[in-house]
Amino acid sequence: MSNEVYDLLIIGGGITGAALLYQTASFTDIQSIGLLEKYAAPARVNSLASNNSQTLHCGDIETNYSLEKALKVQRAAAMLARYCLGQPDKDHLIFRYPKMVLGVGAHECALLRERFTQLSPHYPRLRLLDLKAIARIEPTVATGPDGKLRQEELLALGSSDEYTAVDFEAAARSFVRQAQHIDGKAIDVRYNQQVQRIHIEDGCFLVETASACFRSRSLVVCAGGHSLKLAQDLGYGLDYSCLPVAGSYYFTPQILNGKVYTVQNDKLPFAAIHGDPDVQVPGKTRFGPTALILPILERYNYRTLPDFLRVFRFDRRVARVLWDLFKVPDIRNYMLKNILFEIPIIRKWLFLRDARKIVPGLRYRDLEFAHKVGGIRPQLIDKPNMKLLMGEAKIDTGIGAIFNMTPSPGGTSCLENAEQDMRTIAAFLGARIDEESFRRTLCEAD
Ligand SMILES: Cc1cc2nc3c(=O)[nH]c(=O)nc-3n(C[C@H](O)[C@H](O)[C@H](O)COP(=O)(O)OP(=O)(O)OC[C@H]3O[C@@H](n4cnc5c(N)ncnc54)[C@H](O)[C@@H]3O)c2cc1C
Repeated sequence: MSNEVYDLLIIGGGITGAALLYQTASFTDIQSIGLLEKYAAPARVNSLASNNSQTLHCGDIETNYSLEKALKVQRAAAMLARYCLGQPDKDHLIFRYPKMVLGVGAHECALLRERFTQLSPHYPRLRLLDLKAIARIEPTVATGPDGKLRQEELLALGSSDEYTAVDFEAAARSFVRQAQHIDGKAIDVRYNQQVQRIHIEDGCFLVETASACFRSRSLVVCAGGHSLKLAQDLGYGLDYSCLPVAGSYYFTPQILNGKVYTVQNDKLPFAAIHGDPDVQVPGKTRFGPTALILPILERYNYRTLPDFLRVFRFDRRVARVLWDLFKVPDIRNYMLKNILFEIPIIRKWLFLRDARKIVPGLRYRDLEFAHKVGGIRPQLIDKPNMKLLMGEAKIDTGIGAIFNMTPSPGGTSCLENAEQDMRTIAAFLGARIDEESFRRTLCEAD
């Protein structure tokens, strides 16, 4: 048992936990903050650079976002961009590429025109791109296999002079480093500490790992799908089930200059595949992610199967949500296709068909399955309302403990999510927030 009682203990050193460590250390007078991470370094799970699409989601090219959600992520993205650009190693954190969402055919093009009217007042850099403008930015998107301009109606919404990608792994490391350099605070980051159990004793949270027991006055759990397990152990979040949705990717030689998204099929709950540069693999383009439901909480870690079974909490209501999804033909076909995307040999043929919507001239031999790339989005099922929840979810117990589950766009939203938790925990502990410094550092427009 550690003798120290932390004011705040954060569990999970991905980008969510690291962002909260940075914010509470930098902008509050909370004196002693601990972070427990089960691996030997920060960001080894979904925030690992290879496990997500590295997109700084601003809401302008994501046709699956409502205007309200788009504006929310726009603010979150601006905070993260501002942080990254303020760092001496900014060139390793944030990247500038062109981006666009591509409409193919009359229906999708009409939808993009409508979306442009709705979004352009909020996104001054957003442009409506016709075939020639697309060709200037992404020649392989505008041309067919014969090298001539594509015949079908094509339109895109995009911009070519913005920061559009973040290495969330490097950003998480940067947050931890920044927090550890703050004078006058006790910042205690412990690696190789897998939390097994949390309980409450004498108004304190007792957090047990295999080798130690830590005490804290408040607690924020940022452990992906495992957050739900730890919450349920404590008796919270019992109305949720977790549906882990894995994403795989394919590499091709560099055939795109930037990020090319496609128009969302509004019947599908997950974003359509897109093509992106990989900030850590120069000279390649990465296509994906696919969306495969897997019974594990951490990709490629089958020891997380028992934890999945605990949080899945299968019952009539979960069965009903799954059935409601499965009975929609578009979703059913999509789910089956995503299973086939994992089967060697045929997966390349099938994926090629989808990827050719973006680059018609793509060849079978260009595609290479990206092994050990892609994480798992811990999507929650709200059992009382029998609904699959998209985006981040938070369980605030009201007793100084918060549990975060962060599927996409959790990388982009890390600082905004941390702000919410910082405010809740500061209020709970009676701590002061340096609003002026917070606003100046993270919020003021450039
Ligand atoms: C395929 C895919 C594509 C995505 N693309 C994007 C994108 O383009 N843009 C975007 O903004 N977001 C994207 N996301 C979402 C984004 O990656 C996540 O929202 C984000 O990384 C979540 O960060 P996190 O810190 O909450 O979780 P994680 O990064 O998973 O971190 C959780 C941490 O908790 C630790 N942990 C777990 N259990 C315990 C325990 N018991 N004790 C101690 N530590 C524990 C883990 O080791 C891990 O370090 C994508 C996600 C996926 C899967």
